[in-house]
Order: sequence, then structure tokens, then C-alpha cells
Amino acid sequence: MIKKTPYLSYCSKGICEGCKLCVQGKKLVLFVNGLCSRDCFYCPLSEKRKNKKISWANERKLSDNTTIAIKEAIEEAKITNALGMGITGGDPLFDEEKTITFIQAFKKEFGKSFHTHIYLIPETVNEKNLTRLFKARLDEIRFHPNILKDIDSLKNEINKIKLASKFNWDVGIEIPTLPKSERNIFKLIDKTHKYISFINLNELEVSDTNLDLFSKMNYKIDENDFSGYIIKGSKETALNILKYFCSAQTKNLFQYKKRLIIRAKNIKTVFDKLNKYGDLERNIIYLNEFYPGFGYENKIENLSSKEKTKLSKLLEQNKKYLLKTGIKEKELILDGINFRFITSRKVIESFHDKLKNLKLKPALVTELPTYYSLPLDIEFL
Ligand code: SF4
Repeated sequence: MIKKTPYLSYCSKGICEGCKLCVQGKKLVLFVNGLCSRDCFYCPLSEKRKNKKISWANERKLSDNTTIAIKEAIEEAKITNALGMGITGGDPLFDEEKTITFIQAFKKEFGKSFHTHIYLIPETVNEKNLTRLFKARLDEIRFHPNILKDIDSLKNEINKIKLASKFNWDVGIEIPTLPKSERNIFKLIDKTHKYISFINLNELEVSDTNLDLFSKMNYKIDENDFSGYIIKGSKETALNILKYFCSAQTKNLFQYKKRLIIRAKNIKTVFDKLNKYGDLERNIIYLNEFYPGFGYENKIENLSSKEKTKLSKLLEQNKKYLLKTGIKEKELILDGINFRFITSRKVIESFHDKLKNLKLKPALVTELPTYYSLPLDIEFL
């Protein structure tokens, strides 16, 4: 029986273990790298991530050094109260060593029950890397077979899924649903059902990188979908097939939003307000040398160590000037990630002219509680 879940998705027998935590926003998304041997026309990876050898924990860009990156990712997991981790890419096996090291480190830090699932393409799987993943205590594999090929030609890929099913973990399939692809997906289910315990069908998502190709293929955006980035006919196809259906709305709205709300609660300072959308409303004093504007997101993610040191020094220097104006130390929180001060509305209003005299930029900001506090709305005063 097809059931509608509370998370804007459909399922036939309940949702898989890995998804249970995802939909509550309790899973860290570890993006190992954007490298992949395939070039699916529907690939949703953004320019920022596609073909880049950069790792991310949720929205936080990780250091190149794996030991430091693990510490950063664990910090991100703690701040979002994560109880598990979804490992993705690109193809995480492009950097097998890093993937294994991360799983081992997370299991060591959070214990055996920290649920880990990984997205893999069957082509790069073999007995050796599967054994390593198993020994690292991975809990679940979600395979993405090449659905752009005729399923009858995927003998080798299906054998890899069969091989993975011999280990004591959950194996499933997760694929986007191309409109009118029912026959191909039915064939895929027919050939793999003995080796898998679930299949997740995702709505086909539009992104900056696949939009042009979608238009060339005459795919249209589903205007009835409120998110505005789902291809028409994808949901209908999935519902026609339905065994398990994990919609893009679920992924984006529930997983993402719930994780952000947890994060917001954990990072909220005494001066911040958490609004009903889970965004933080803050009173900020920006440095004249570094404040949001065009390309800010990119700029902050790519600051060099030298630039960071310079901004930290400026921050410290300005703190001294601010204290001289009469602002109390407890009224200033130094934000060393965004190189700014978080303060109270009272300070912003009562000391407005003095702040301007110091060439600082007071502002009322609404922002996402992500690592780099992405601003949604800024009013410079
Ligand atoms: S397998 Fe996944 S990451 Fe690789 S190109 Fe296809 S959609 Fe992109």
C-alpha cells in the first residue's frame, strides 16, 4: 500500500533506516569530493562542488589536511546534534582513504550506533574497498546505477550490487526519476530486488549546472511544485513505480530545515532572536574592511590564512576602540569565523554615531545558522 509520510514523500513499507534520521535533520552530510567518473546530464552538483577536490561537512568547507578536516566535521556534527552521517560526492571512492578515515573517526568519536550511509556508483566498487568499508563499520550503501543506459547492459554493475549484498549491512538503490522512465526502472528493480532492501526514488531536481541541458531535452519545471525546481512528470513517474519514494522536498525542506533549527539553537547567543523560520535575527557590527556584499559567500569560504590573520588582528584592534566608547566587554561577542561583532540592539542604537565615527558598519541581519552564517537580509544602519 502506498502511504504518504509526514515528510512530503511516499512509501510502501516505511522508510529505510538511513532516512529515518535524515528526515529529522539528525544526519551530517559529508561531501567527500566532487569528482566522479560519470557525467550524468542531470547531475545536480553546483559549480562550487562539481569536479572539485574539496570536502564539505554540511555547508562548512573543510581543510585540505584530513586530520584537521575530521576535527572540523566532528565539530559540525556536534553543533547540529547529528546522530548519523550521509557520505556523498561525486564519488566518495575517488578518495577511498579519506572516506574510510572519516567513517573510522566518526565511529570512534560517536560510537557504533552513529548511523552511516554512503552513496556509491557500482562501477567503482570491488571486494577490496567493500571489505574496507565494512571493517570501518559502515551501516548502509545506496547505489546509483547508470539509469541512462539500457538496464540489460548493466550486468557488471548489478553484479557489484550483488557482491555488496553479501556483507552484513543494508543495501539499497537511490536514483532520480526521469519522466517516463517507468519501464527502465521496473527492469532495474526486477534485476536487483534480490540484493537490495529498499529503493528510494528522488524527484528530478533542477540546478544551475543542469538547467541548460534540461531545457535542451525539453524538460519543463513543474509549476505546481512550490519549491520551483522539480521537473514536471518526475513525481508522477515515481508514484507509478512506487516502492519507496524519498522526495526532493523531503530532502531539502525537512532534512535541511530541521538540521538548521538544531544548529541555530546551539549557536544562538543571548543577543540573537530565533525567528519562526529557524533563521537568526542578529545585531551585528561589521568591520569596514570585511562586510557582506557581492560575492561575499565565495569570499568568506576562500579566505587565505594570511587574510584571516589580518582580519583577526583588525577585530582585536577594533574591540579595544569599542571598549573605549563605553560599550561593556560582555556586550560584545567576537565572531572569529565571520570577523565581526555580535551585540545587542541597545548597543547598535545607543552607540550608532560612535560606531560610524570608528568607520564600523552596524547592521540588523537575518541569517541562516550555517557555518558561514549566510545572510538572508541585511539592513545597514
Ligand atoms: S553519478 Fe552522481 S555525482 Fe556522478 S555525475 Fe552522476 S549524478 Fe553527478
